Amino acid sequence: MKSGEFTFTMIKPTAVRLGKLVPILHEIDHAGFTVIAMKMTRLSREQAERFYAIHKERPFFDELVCFMSSGPVVAIVLQKENAVLDFRKLIGNTNPQNAEEGTIRKKFAISVQENAVHGSDSDENALIEANFFFSQFEIFPLNEDFS
Ligand code: GDP
Repeated sequence: MKSGEFTFTMIKPTAVRLGKLVPILHEIDHAGFTVIAMKMTRLSREQAERFYAIHKERPFFDELVCFMSSGPVVAIVLQKENAVLDFRKLIGNTNPQNAEEGTIRKKFAISVQENAVHGSDSDENALIEANFFFSQFEIFPLNEDFS
């Protein structure tokens, strides 16, 4: 997997519960991303704390960890040129009220916390987050020889 060519996303519990997985995947596909790894799983409280460790001093940390471990999520690695920035554009602002028309968060988020999807904010974090959920045997980049 080449840095710069992939990003990590997670469909958050509310979006999964409301049946938005397939509609969101449709948007992602339409924007030219290829799914190269995917699993439905449920984070324990401890795993959610680790995933969001960078936010542990923020006032909403406890609520966020509770929410993210409240039900199944779908973890996905996506391949595309310029994946991290293009995906951040596709999902829109963290707060759906400020998200641009046509973005995934504008269409599917119900609040700043329950904002439908996660998207890595750097190539470095995309790698860390992909490795958090997937082993090297569970990611299938395009144009690699598996024979
Ligand atoms: P992102 O990179 O756009 O996801 O935003 P951040 O990294 O700043 O925040 C991580 C996640 O924490 C967001 O996606 C939201 O689910 C949640 N979050 C961010 N800001 C707030 C807030 O002010 N209140 C609450 N309750 N949750 C927030």
